[in-house]
Amino acid sequence: MHISAESALAIAAKVESFVREAVIPLEGDPRIGPHGPSEELVAHLRKLAREAGVMTPHIRPDGTHLTQQQTAWVLKKSGLSILGPVAVNTAAPDEGNMYLIGKVGTPAQKSRFLTPLVRGDARSAFFMTEPAADGGAGSDPSMMQTVAVKQGEEWVISGRKAFITGAVGAKVGIVMARTRVEPRTAATMFLVDLPDPAIRIERVLDTIDGAMPGGHAVVSIENLHVAADQVLGAPDEGFAYAQVRLSPARLSHCMRWHGAATRAQEIAAGYACTRQAFGKLLIDHEGVGFMLADNLIDLKQAELMIDWCAGVLDAGSLGTVESSMTKVAVSELLFRVADRCVQVMGGTGVTRDTMVEQVFREIRAFRIYDGPTEVHKWSLAKKIKRDAAVTPASSARAPDA
Ligand SMILES: Cc1cc2nc3c(=O)[nH]c(=O)nc-3n(C[C@H](O)[C@H](O)[C@H](O)COP(=O)(O)OP(=O)(O)OC[C@H]3O[C@@H](n4cnc5c(N)ncnc54)[C@H](O)[C@@H]3O)c2cc1C
Repeated sequence: MHISAESALAIAAKVESFVREAVIPLEGDPRIGPHGPSEELVAHLRKLAREAGVMTPHIRPDGTHLTQQQTAWVLKKSGLSILGPVAVNTAAPDEGNMYLIGKVGTPAQKSRFLTPLVRGDARSAFFMTEPAADGGAGSDPSMMQTVAVKQGEEWVISGRKAFITGAVGAKVGIVMARTRVEPRTAATMFLVDLPDPAIRIERVLDTIDGAMPGGHAVVSIENLHVAADQVLGAPDEGFAYAQVRLSPARLSHCMRWHGAATRAQEIAAGYACTRQAFGKLLIDHEGVGFMLADNLIDLKQAELMIDWCAGVLDAGSLGTVESSMTKVAVSELLFRVADRCVQVMGGTGVTRDTMVEQVFREIRAFRIYDGPTEVHKWSLAKKIKRDAAVTPASSARAPDA
């Protein structure tokens, strides 16, 4: 059952108080390493979230999700701290995985794989991308090398995956593997329990970002046996389900990073309004004031794009085009915001004394995952070409009278 706007705003306000009062003070916790917060810290944050009544705030106890527009109110608040989404269980990849299992999973799959995720008792990983060195799937998922072969009532999966966020520590996996080549490559999604000896972590990559527990792993899968009833949805429909997951997942990244960029702006504004140079506050130097003003404008533009795309999804569309446009616009806008925040704060901006430096690094990575900017623009250009073929523009000028 859908909830009212007032109730959703109340949830968002509760999440904001929790993040500001209980989570932000833990941002300097020594249990945060280069590959994100430790499992111990995640468990502690989630205990606090449960006590505060803000665990998985975008999914109601009866299993219904807030609308995308309401989700945006809540997820932006969870993003005010880098640790916020993990604490309240709105983080990637769990948020997108929960959404997908909720949409496509059978009742038995939901009770086995979804329930522990929604409760925040388990984390999950999404295994799609493959190492570039293997010529595997990246921007182009149809290059998938990992294969699944049906043997009796089981599927046997082998291959390698890369950049698998949270694979270390996850209890639930969604593994994508190629299940057909002719007439067109098709893939299937499989739900698996983790850890599994057939899924070996080769290494955890050292990346520019560091918010997500478990980091991003290169993984080899060798003869992983999966029961037929663990196929998520129907066989060969993996690419279609990736589309179902993609738009809301892209949008939720925009929401969380909007919250983080808002926080960076708060910190930078605080610095500019207290730090003096050449006899006056930094904010009173036009060069600084204009950077913060540009940030305000960019944050509002990003918010409006998120709201527009959320409305499209709420109207029942897959929103593939709109979420592409929004992902590009918001990731680029927020990156500029974060970059200006670093600049406003001078040397302090590049130190780990505040969250601004990490927000900058996190949003840099966001310009690549869930589709690099160029790939989205390329697919938008293909749509423009298709549309132009259907309705050719009338370019001829009317003859002079
Ligand atoms: C921090 C992080 C977390 C991630 N987490 C996960 C995860 O949990 N699970 C998962 O499966 N994957 C994950 N990924 C992988 C991510 O989805 C891929 O990195 C992304 O799809 C790009 O693939 P690639 O890295 O192989 O880049 P490539 O495919 O090698 O592309 C490199 C560059 O080429 C350009 N390019 C490619 N195609 C085009 C085109 N058609 N037109 C113009 N330019 C183009 C783009 O600039 C692109 O950045 C993660 C990545 C990062 C960085």
